[in-house]
Amino acid sequence: MISLTDIHKSFGDNHVLKGVSIVVPEGGVTALIGASGSGKSTLLRCANLLEIPQSGEVRIDDAVIEFTPGGKVGRKDLLPLRRKTGMVFQNFQLFPHLTALENVMEGLLVVLNWPQEQARQRALELLDKVGMTAKADAWPSSLSGGQQQRVAIARALAPAPKVLLCDEPTSALDPQLAGEVVEVLSQLAREGTTMLMATHDLRLAAKIATNVVFLQDGEVVEAGPVRQVFGAPKDERTKRFITTLT
Ligand code: ADP
Ligand code: MG
Repeated sequence: MISLTDIHKSFGDNHVLKGVSIVVPEGGVTALIGASGSGKSTLLRCANLLEIPQSGEVRIDDAVIEFTPGGKVGRKDLLPLRRKTGMVFQNFQLFPHLTALENVMEGLLVVLNWPQEQARQRALELLDKVGMTAKADAWPSSLSGGQQQRVAIARALAPAPKVLLCDEPTSALDPQLAGEVVEVLSQLAREGTTMLMATHDLRLAAKIATNVVFLQDGEVVEAGPVRQVFGAPKDERTKRFITTLT
């Protein structure tokens, strides 16, 4: 069970998330759609606690944290939850001083204290999964954007997270390179990887999502199975958003 409940997040007096509640079904792909500035990235960052909400509950499996205004949550409290997530960023954010293989191994070695050889085996398996075995020893700067993103996906999957969080995973890529990343994400979706993915690419959402959440101005306007939200949206605002983008 993965859920965010009644999440409020402000930056100064900018109230960005205004009581957002979402459920991310296990084994499915939930697409988070909405205009730029609607709060998609902030919500993803609250899901892995890169941002700390002022109030609300974040639950992944048996790890739950309830945030209250003025309540104190220490770094130690965040770790069990954070470790159940993997994050893929728009701009890949690979470690530039590590090879592709080392990028995938890094979290296993440093965060989880895996032995070197075991981490290497796991990393090689994941590079194979994303079709990057041949580039295991390459530096990020020598890889195309699509290749870097595939390595970043392997890195995010390395600790076997309960949920893969993807923030606009294809929007920094031209269509051809985006295509190879979409292929990897589709394969993961078919395998039943639980994903929460912010995207303004409605075609990507339609292709791999099982569920859609439409966010506007920090509020959930509509959420449901992809066929319902895209095929028969209930809210006028959803209808308008979908037609302006297709
Ligand atoms: P989206 O991903 O849907 O485009 P974001 O979550 O990035 O939206 O941003 C939502 C709002 O939150 C914007 O007004 C943005 O300026 C603000 N915001 C996001 N992150 C920060 C931050 N670290 N500091 C201040 N304001 C932020
Ligand atoms: Mg964003």
